[in-house]
Amino acid sequence: MNVSIVLFTADLRLHDHPPLRAALKAGEVIPLFVRDTGVASAGFAAPNRLAFLADCLRDLDSGLRERGGRLIVRSGDVVEEVCKVATETDAREVHMAGDVSAYAQLREQRLRRALEAEGRRLHVHDTVTTAVAPGAVTPAASDHFAVFTPYYRQWSGVRLRAAPAAPREIRVLDGVGSEQLPARTGLQGVSEGLAEGGETAGRERLARWLRTGITSYEDRHDDLAGDGTSRLSPHLHFGTLSPVELVHRARGAGGPGAEAFLRQLAWRDFHRQVLAARPAAATADYRTKRDRWRTERTAHEDVRAWKEGRTGYPVIDAAMRQLRHEGWIHNRGRLLAASFLTKTLYVDWRVGARYFLELLVDGDVASNQLNWQWMAGTGTDSRPNRVLNPVTQASRYDPDGVYVRRWVPELAAVEGPSVHQPWKLKGPDRAATEDYPDPIVELSAGLARFRRGRDRD
Ligand code: FAD
Repeated sequence: MNVSIVLFTADLRLHDHPPLRAALKAGEVIPLFVRDTGVASAGFAAPNRLAFLADCLRDLDSGLRERGGRLIVRSGDVVEEVCKVATETDAREVHMAGDVSAYAQLREQRLRRALEAEGRRLHVHDTVTTAVAPGAVTPAASDHFAVFTPYYRQWSGVRLRAAPAAPREIRVLDGVGSEQLPARTGLQGVSEGLAEGGETAGRERLARWLRTGITSYEDRHDDLAGDGTSRLSPHLHFGTLSPVELVHRARGAGGPGAEAFLRQLAWRDFHRQVLAARPAAATADYRTKRDRWRTERTAHEDVRAWKEGRTGYPVIDAAMRQLRHEGWIHNRGRLLAASFLTKTLYVDWRVGARYFLELLVDGDVASNQLNWQWMAGTGTDSRPNRVLNPVTQASRYDPDGVYVRRWVPELAAVEGPSVHQPWKLKGPDRAATEDYPDPIVELSAGLARFRRGRDRD
């Protein structure tokens, strides 16, 4: 009987898994996950994501066991480990999902070369980590879309493949050695409020979202306190949910909420097709404005205040404290925190992107770096000088100050929207907030750096 390896990477699920289905068609499989030392040495192994990953691997192993199989875990260089397992088991084929970062692209090339040198074949499946494959739709004169709206138009017209349920039975080759599954326990620096990982948790959240959340998404997605978004991002990042399935299910739900949600899923694919075509955009300006950014060294105190959530701008501080506590921030909070760092403090977007990646459970090279670039004005935004004013934005998206009071206890006693400008409080109200810092920068001073051609939101 033929034996094939299924190399799981950012697709830690059994539902709608094209590599697994293709391998099962050919015979017995070896479901393999390699704890890639390359990821750790690139500084990408953040505690929150390691904890979520541990949940995902345990759940994947349970799902495989329920179907007669199990997960094989190895550690080391991914190419070496896959080749070792292939030699041990005489697997002729390896199936895996395509991915977009420079690291993933290089991993794929190295793996293909190493396997072919031994007479084996690598099959890379697209539409596993995206709904529409990078490069599947392109404008006439380029290899990728640099503007979202025309991309979205084409993306919406792509006919997606079906998204089948998990196989009932999974025949796994006996006798292949595995390390123990990693565990959450013992990991240092994990956020207290971190969500649970794994396909089971992801599918439960998805079912709840389709039942109770998606209908009001259009109206509620920008309400900072209302928490009216799906919180599915970590599941999309680790692939415990399939983007193709999500698009089908949202289309099935229908209505303006589902439309707005689909648009966000398209944003995810949009950034992935940009990164696939321009992998250097993970670290270099996509469209440079020749900024002379302040750096972590030259703006040390400001950067520290931003990271600690002590800038004196309550909505920024609330977002940064949510990040530390949950390993996740509401999208509007991310936008505000990124605008404040890059446009108001004029600090290099890479400083912020790096810090987000240290903590975000959904921390993802494509979505994180390209959203940071979008906000910094070096990415795909057609209004690169856009500045988000934290006071007016807070009044709009946290009108009663509920979000701020939730995350900034020093301001918990301040009622109503005046919580957004504690420096204006007088008398006993002011005294009650004395533990909260004064603003580290005047907004006008920050904004003045962008006097020319500035847009204010
Ligand atoms: P929902 O509003 O429910 O949206 C559904 C899904 O659409 C999300 O789960 C996500 O996969 C996708 N999505 C939504 N908005 C975007 C967007 N602007 N770009 C790409 N995909 C999007 N998202 C990440 O997944 N990982 C990151 O590392 C990341 N870093 C970000 C950094 C900054 C500075 C900004 C402004 C945004 C970042 N985002 C990132 C995008 C977005 O903020 C999150 O995807 C979203 O907040 C996740 O919450 P949700 O699942 O409830 O989203």
